[in-house]
Amino acid sequence: MSLWKKSLKELSDLVVSKEVKPSEVVEAFADRSSQIEPHIKSYVTDLTQQAVEEAKKKDEEIAKLESIPPLFGLPVAVKDNISTKGIRTTCSSKMLENYIPPFDATVVEKLKHQGYIITGKTNLDEFAMGSSTENSAFFTTKNPWDYSRVPGGSSGGSAAAVGAGIVPAALGSDTGGSIRQPAAFCGVVGLKPTYGRVSRYGLVAFASSLDQIGPITRTVEDSALLMNVISGKDPRDSTSADKEVPDFLSYIGKEIKGIKIGIPEEFFVEGLDSQIKETVLNAVKQLEKEGAEIVQVSMPTTKYAIEAYYIIAPSEASSNLARYDGVRYGYRTAEYSDLEEMYSKTRDEGFGAEVKRRIMLGTYSLSSGYYDAYYLKAQKVRTLIYQDFMDAFQKVDVLATPTTPDVAFKIGEKTEDPVQMYLSDIFTVSVNMAGLPGISIPCGFKDGLPVGLQLIGKPFDEGTLLQVAHYYERMNDFYKMFPGE
Ligand code: GLN
Repeated sequence: MSLWKKSLKELSDLVVSKEVKPSEVVEAFADRSSQIEPHIKSYVTDLTQQAVEEAKKKDEEIAKLESIPPLFGLPVAVKDNISTKGIRTTCSSKMLENYIPPFDATVVEKLKHQGYIITGKTNLDEFAMGSSTENSAFFTTKNPWDYSRVPGGSSGGSAAAVGAGIVPAALGSDTGGSIRQPAAFCGVVGLKPTYGRVSRYGLVAFASSLDQIGPITRTVEDSALLMNVISGKDPRDSTSADKEVPDFLSYIGKEIKGIKIGIPEEFFVEGLDSQIKETVLNAVKQLEKEGAEIVQVSMPTTKYAIEAYYIIAPSEASSNLARYDGVRYGYRTAEYSDLEEMYSKTRDEGFGAEVKRRIMLGTYSLSSGYYDAYYLKAQKVRTLIYQDFMDAFQKVDVLATPTTPDVAFKIGEKTEDPVQMYLSDIFTVSVNMAGLPGISIPCGFKDGLPVGLQLIGKPFDEGTLLQVAHYYERMNDFYKMFPGE
């Protein structure tokens, strides 16, 4: 089998046992990339050629190593809102087009410690605000299954790259669905960890109480492998949790007999495409046949998740994005006569339409007189959503839902109507609102386009998610499928 078709774990085994050299691995992906990347455009900064050179150095280093870390010499792509020392980190925004961070995000530092090789910085919706990469200030990434469609977003570049087989794994970030939705659209595995499981240090802040970094991979086992590397308390992120990190790989291959899977009725309602519904329910039936117990549950407040999210996320964004003022770093307008004009022209020229929309929405909901009616109310709804999940988790171990209401949409289809775009996150945002872990895995196709099954877990119980997801994955062949084959 071609090396580029192998999972990170398989490649790791080959490199660790010295059957294959890092340069052979990286070159296989570089070849694949030279054919596909010009069509899909997943990278803002494509480092494939540097990666090949880097891999040759790793070939030499490996000879001297006594023990070889599992990611040594393996290629991984990084979403372009995650800080990389000495490598441009743009957030797909004109504001940061030429910004080169002087430091690495904690996750990047951890990957480096493992000896990984970065293949590039992947495209996203500007500052991770969007569901299609169409809000990127540079270009739209294409879905590898159909170039006329979006790859999802905001981690669309990462998901497209993994889906196309030009890299075995990538990091994404998820504030309202940005790992899981593009993973579903591109036919790959996307895990949003529990809030606090992975350090956010070096992740450019969008909505700090919702943002999490997580892996996008071809297999569930690879997701576990990367979680082992990136998880854990970080003194540089006070919201990272001081929780023991289990060996996530130990959940791979476990039986699922007796596991209780909840089906929330509110996630199978109007607006959900009938074929998606059938595909997801079939996946659940397969799990039931293997001994999982299916339980119907109700979570009545989750239906307000989108409304509350689109108050809370823009509110936090309006505060987080205040730092881009043209003074310290980033874009500054060319001509201005005083400070105020410099601020306003810089922000007007530096930010795109969606980012401005969020800043205005957020500033409005936080302003005195409206704070109680919008922001405070949305926070109350957030608490109720959390309680709904906790009630459900009294009865079940995991919840199963569709990841998205439909498959990948056409480029341009939803750009004129922000509300339609926002609705593509209808099944993912409540998970962020409650701070829970969620995974999307491929569970079939509709008209040749991948469909995602979402599993949601208890706080810090990514292990059970990986267990059920892996069991399901191995009963089917979706993980072996590549677009155009
Ligand atoms: N699509 C959602 C939004 O636009 C979620 C984005 C994200 O998770 N980063 O806010």
